[in-house]
Parts: sequence; C-alpha cells; structure tokens
Amino acid sequence: MIEYVSRSGEPEAMNCPAFICDACRKQVIGPGNILWAIRLGEDAERASSPLYVAHKGRCDQAVTALLEHLYPFDEGWHSNLWTEIEAFLGPLNNNAVHAFADDPDGTYHDHALIQPGGIILPTFASPKGELP
Ligand SMILES: [Zn+2]
Repeated sequence: MIEYVSRSGEPEAMNCPAFICDACRKQVIGPGNILWAIRLGEDAERASSPLYVAHKGRCDQAVTALLEHLYPFDEGWHSNLWTEIEAFLGPLNNNAVHAFADDPDGTYHDHALIQPGGIILPTFASPKGELP
C-alpha cells in the first residue's frame, strides 16, 4: 500500500509517503509494481479493489496469489492487473490536478471499492455526489 512512514532523521522528523510492499512489508525503492483487481461482470456491480504494492519477483507473485484468493475469478473478479510504479506515477501526478476531459466533475470512477473480505467502505456523499 501507499503509506506514511514516520522518520526522525535530518533535517527534521516528518511523515513521508512511501510504497510499502504488501508481501514483505519493506519499502519498495526502485522497481516495483502496483496491483489491483476489478469486477466488470454483467450480473454484479462494477467494483475494484484497493491498490496493492509489491517488489518485482517473489513478492509480486505472492501478492498476485493473494488477490486471486481475495477477489476470486468465479465471482467475476479479474485480479491479474498491474503496472510498474514508475508508469503509475506520471498519470497519478497528472490526474491529481487535471480532470478527465469527459468527466470534469470527477464522477467517472462511480463504482464500489471492495476491501478484502468483501467490505464496502461507506460513502458520505449522496447518489448525486452531494456531501451532507
Ligand atoms: Zn517485497
């Protein structure tokens, strides 16, 4: 996952965002992958998993196996999706400050986020996206 890591070194103590491998729990420095699952089935609500992080190689294989278990294919999930962290960062930086051209209100991703175990996080917004 992308997590904040507390550090106390120079120049000052701070919390720093970092990619933490979901297999070995060590920081990914250099090559690594972002992995996730999506559900597109006609019989089920469109959904996605959170994003997971892994070192390439054995860690990536372990996280892929975990996603296949948590988000099973026979329930409509596709859990073999990944991109390299380096390729992930460019679009993330861009999309943080630029709306998708066909979705200026940022509603394009209107689907459920399913945590492991099938937990659906509640949303505070109304179906029209209005906050209480
Ligand atoms: Zn790892």
